[in-house]
Amino acid sequence: MPYGDNQGGGDFQRTWFDGDWACAKCGNKITRLPFKPDPSRLDQLLCQDCHREKRQAFRGGGGRSFGR
Ligand SMILES: [Zn+2]
Repeated sequence: MPYGDNQGGGDFQRTWFDGDWACAKCGNKITRLPFKPDPSRLDQLLCQDCHREKRQAFRGGGGRSFGR
């Protein structure tokens, strides 16, 4: 990541990765990811909705049944 480019700080620009994936949970199409997907985890990708749900479930406590 190039550092030293003065963009005023604060508003950090995210790099989006375009592609054609499917959500492992709801099957929704994923065309963009805020991170570079790991090729070995392409079948575990979550769409933004599911990702947010997962995070909320995490915070809600008692999320021990997660996983298989
Ligand atoms: Zn989903």
